[in-house]
Amino acid sequence: MSYNAWFQCINGCPGQYSLLEIIYRCPTCGDLLEVRHDIDALKTRAAGAWIKLFDDRVGQNVYPYGSGVWAKKEWVVPFIDNENVVSTCEGHTNLFWANRYGKQLHVEDLWVKQCGNSHTGSFKDLGMTVLVSVVNQMIANGEPIDAVACASTGDTSAALAAYGAAAGIPTVVFLPRDKVSPAQLVQPLANGALVLSLDTDFDGCMAAVQEVTKHKHIYLANSMNSLRIEGQKTISIEIVQQFDWEVPDWVILPGGNLGNVSAFGKGFLMMYDLGLISKLPRICVAQAENANPLYLSYLTSDRQSGECPQSDRDAAALQRRRRASLGVGAGRGSGARRPHRHVQLPAYGSCVGSAQKTRGEKGDSRPRASGRDLDRQWPEIRRSENRVSRWHAARYPEHFTKPAR
Ligand SMILES: [Zn+2]
Repeated sequence: MSYNAWFQCINGCPGQYSLLEIIYRCPTCGDLLEVRHDIDALKTRAAGAWIKLFDDRVGQNVYPYGSGVWAKKEWVVPFIDNENVVSTCEGHTNLFWANRYGKQLHVEDLWVKQCGNSHTGSFKDLGMTVLVSVVNQMIANGEPIDAVACASTGDTSAALAAYGAAAGIPTVVFLPRDKVSPAQLVQPLANGALVLSLDTDFDGCMAAVQEVTKHKHIYLANSMNSLRIEGQKTISIEIVQQFDWEVPDWVILPGGNLGNVSAFGKGFLMMYDLGLISKLPRICVAQAENANPLYLSYLTSDRQSGECPQSDRDAAALQRRRRASLGVGAGRGSGARRPHRHVQLPAYGSCVGSAQKTRGEKGDSRPRASGRDLDRQWPEIRRSENRVSRWHAARYPEHFTKPAR
């Protein structure tokens, strides 16, 4: 059976694009593209057969299936040639029972998934192996790609440089001057990347890399490229696999631009659609207070229309309405409810899940998320990601250029 996957607009504009095409945004509406899989073809293999295949591949030495990402190759990029896969045996990270920490938090069964235990010390390896492998396949097919490039303040550039080095593909990294620690600089430099330090912030670097990658000889590796989501989504499959194919009640993960939460949702939904699991977990995103674009977007954008305020004054008015609708009083000591609190997690790149340890426990009255819960959450998650991007575009139009029609 041959399986297939392609790019498609997140808003449902017509058109499918090959994963081997150099395209980052929908040519019709300019929004994000996502990878879609031929689910009907995947359904021709029974859920039990998928589970057996994935379990058989754990710890296998046949390249590239020993990787946690490529062990699920048919669900990631099914058609890529194994010899073009660029892998450092990423994934299969440990999931441990944080018993004492769980007791402190009054969570009965708390587990920590160490997604950052990987080649460059970040979960970004899971996405970058997919992106660089696809580029490697394109080069093998004769596509004239000279380099891969990204803007980054650390982990992304480390991952891209490592996989670029493993594949022998030149890497260009744009970093904001004086905003990156020596520890974060070491990896791209040691892996032979061309490191450009610009007199700007991350967003300025992002604008520069988008300009440079308009020329298709240099391939864009930032998170708007949804190939990386396909690798990161294997984390949720791996969590369930490590619980003997049982689904945790909650998954809590840190979120920045929400690429990873999108990936988690996608992995769970794929398992659900293909019958490997019969319920979905609740997903909780925690944003650090000093890096909270989703929260700010939630406060300042119109949820119904998805529109963003065009000025600070509009934003302030929207924010007041939103806070009022949340029951957050303007005056101090009014007894009004406090706004949503942020939870700051110690380490970006790790995720924490709570799950039952034992199989088939009866009489558990804890509320369960139904399939429909995440079905409802999922478009919202993807829209949130879009809202963050639109909010950013409204505030910093100079960082964005209209797509070519
Ligand atoms: Zn579109």
